[in-house]
Amino acid sequence: MTGRTHDMAAFTALSITVLLYPPTEQITLATGLVAVVANMIGGVAPDIDQPTAPLWRNLPIGGMVGRTITRLLGGHRFLSHSILGIAVFGYGFDFILNLLQPSFPALNMHIIWLAFMIGFISHLIMDTFTKEGVPWLLPIPVKFGIPPLKVFRVSTGSFVEKFIVFPALLIFNGYFYFIHYPELLEIVKYHIK
Ligand SMILES: [Zn+2]
Repeated sequence: MTGRTHDMAAFTALSITVLLYPPTEQITLATGLVAVVANMIGGVAPDIDQPTAPLWRNLPIGGMVGRTITRLLGGHRFLSHSILGIAVFGYGFDFILNLLQPSFPALNMHIIWLAFMIGFISHLIMDTFTKEGVPWLLPIPVKFGIPPLKVFRVSTGSFVEKFIVFPALLIFNGYFYFIHYPELLEIVKYHIK
């Protein structure tokens, strides 16, 4: 899937989580905004193992760095596309947030971490619907896909992804916010300080 679809999927997963399980604690507006950004980064982070990822393309020596990282992580759709990868990135991001916490006391790093992880996991779920599949159980080198028959899965950047999957996610978000509007108001009123 493309970065755009992954970001939309990450946002969708975050919306569902927040509206169905509203936060019990109050968070600052800054935490909410940073959490949305962390969610988007988490949504594309697994493709760090792809040398052509937008992340690398936009850096001057990105191509080279991207290829090196790809080799280290074992190639596209390898470590960062598995349960093991979820654990490694989860610990790594938690470590970075703990280092940053003293400088940003107004931010609830746990919420930001959760938003990142929701994005990250949504990426793996979306990739499971693509032809390539996802090696969920690494180091067991088997790629899983839904549906099991490859012909029925989505190709990255294809017509189906651009004109069916992406718009469907967009419409779902509109519908979901519409039916959960009271909960959204409640969260904004009582849980953002
Ligand atoms: Zn991917």
